[in-house]
Amino acid sequence: MSRPAPSALKVLRLLKSKYGSDPRTQLSHKNKTELFVAVLLSPQCTDKQTNKVTSALFKKYKTFNDYAVADIKKLSADISGLNYYKTKARNLKAAAQMINQRFNGKIPRTMKELMELPGVGRKVANVMLNEGFGIDEGIAVDTHCAVVSRRLGYSRHKDPKKIEQDLLKKMPKSAWGVTSNLFIELGRDTCKAAKKECPRCVLQGICPSSTVK
Ligand code: SF4
Repeated sequence: MSRPAPSALKVLRLLKSKYGSDPRTQLSHKNKTELFVAVLLSPQCTDKQTNKVTSALFKKYKTFNDYAVADIKKLSADISGLNYYKTKARNLKAAAQMINQRFNGKIPRTMKELMELPGVGRKVANVMLNEGFGIDEGIAVDTHCAVVSRRLGYSRHKDPKKIEQDLLKKMPKSAWGVTSNLFIELGRDTCKAAKKECPRCVLQGICPSSTVK
């Protein structure tokens, strides 16, 4: 890399100029229950794939109690369009039971409590906290966010947990939530894992991995 990692503020300003000041998740949802379910089901799947499954699922299941008492074979069949659907069905039912019994039917609002729920790791918890409650306890690192972070020189790691720790030191706390969504927009648009398209990237002038001279 020829250039140093660019200033976080400059990167945020340029990304916001292209993708908007507050881009949101592309997982379809109408309330916090639907958001939680969509985020829990989304790992290892595209948002499009997840949205296709949840559009039918949300017509059948409205509350955490619906998931908690669901027949596991039927729930598995209802989400069988997703990768790892059997594991996800087990986690969803168990998480719904725990939300009902331990958290009085309310989705917990802290990283620690969210991560006690089956199937919830830091990424899922970060998305839920930021998108659902406007709470920034961390930065959700998905594959797009990981690729962009490495190309910008913000992290050398591949492990999302380590990338997140590097990003938390670089980005201002007030921008933790938006950072993830802006990096995802960039990753989908020009900074694709398989092929970066630097000539049309808004960061080409400051990115250490830019192929533009
Ligand atoms: S300039 Fe190229 S490598 Fe850098 S963020 Fe943009 S697309 Fe990715």
